[in-house]
Amino acid sequence: MKLCTLGSGSKGNATLLDFAGTLIMVDCGFGPRELARRLERVGVAPADLDALLITHEHSDHISGAAAQVARFNTSVYMTTGTACGWTDAERVEPQILRAGVRLKIGAVQVSPVAVPHDAREPVQFVFQVGAVKVGVLTDLGHISAPVYAQYAGCQTLLVEANHDLDMLRSGPYPPFLKRRVAGEQGQHLNNDQAAEFVGHIAATGPLQTLIIAHMSSKNNSSERVADAFARTGVAVPNTVFARQSEPSDWLSLV
Ligand SMILES: [Zn+2]
Ligand SMILES: [Zn+2]
Repeated sequence: MKLCTLGSGSKGNATLLDFAGTLIMVDCGFGPRELARRLERVGVAPADLDALLITHEHSDHISGAAAQVARFNTSVYMTTGTACGWTDAERVEPQILRAGVRLKIGAVQVSPVAVPHDAREPVQFVFQVGAVKVGVLTDLGHISAPVYAQYAGCQTLLVEANHDLDMLRSGPYPPFLKRRVAGEQGQHLNNDQAAEFVGHIAATGPLQTLIIAHMSSKNNSSERVADAFARTGVAVPNTVFARQSEPSDWLSLV
């Protein structure tokens, strides 16, 4: 069993999980040609995908979904709210999922988890096969109680560390955008929030692999992320930074 990101950031997101025979993609923020190119880099053909799970209707997560489904008849799952916010929903007819209601895809148990984000009904996902537990968590303003509860015990975690607060404050974004990203009801985790959360999860079990995702190209750097983790004393054996421009290597889940 293994995981890779095809790319991560505000210009497009997609994460692949290969559970020994069941191939699941979380989000599809790349158009068909770019998706095929990135999939080829990791040895997968678009027709091989068993299921596509969509977290929310923002274009960096959904823009390539309709083309993938129309062309390859991939099963696509999303919440009612996400489907309502998606212009292609009628044509593609997604399968509806709900936060807190588990579903099975092949041998994989999928738990959709509600998150605070400025979309209609956003969710993120926890996957379990036997003792293997993997969490994917991006696009949320803060860590809510259900997130702490559902992600406890993950051995592998892909988590957003979107921005460094100081870089955001002094950076090029206009005030309204700074507020959207980080304000009272901010929409993305900053490095300190991410580090605090990872420390919490590491305390619940053997967290082996950490993928830092959805980093802002203007308001963050891998050095700032590392500083934040060092401040909270969190060290995960295998830590990888997901990049916008290219896929990661495959990372083993066991
Ligand atoms: Zn979003
Ligand atoms: Zn996003």
